[in-house]
Amino acid sequence: MKPKKRHTKSRKRVRRGAIKFKSATLTVCPKCKRPIKPHTACSFCGTYKGKKVLDIKLKKKEKKELKKKQKAEAKDKKDKEEKNKKIKK
Ligand SMILES: [Zn+2]
Repeated sequence: MKPKKRHTKSRKRVRRGAIKFKSATLTVCPKCKRPIKPHTACSFCGTYKGKKVLDIKLKKKEKKELKKKQKAEAKDKKDKEEKNKKIKK
């Protein structure tokens, strides 16, 4: 079908003025509490509905931070064990 009449510049512009970006609706990941798209697996921790469904590769910075955390935790454990030993003695 062909257009019956030509639309004016104004009409075209009015029509296109109604086309705009919508802000994406976001929900919060139940595991890591970061904003994510609804009905999709979390791209930060790889979980969907509480189950792990994706293997997420860590960036170099995040890897370093993880190692630091693990080291700190290991130290804390050692310190606690030593304290417990002292208390037992
Ligand atoms: Zn997450």
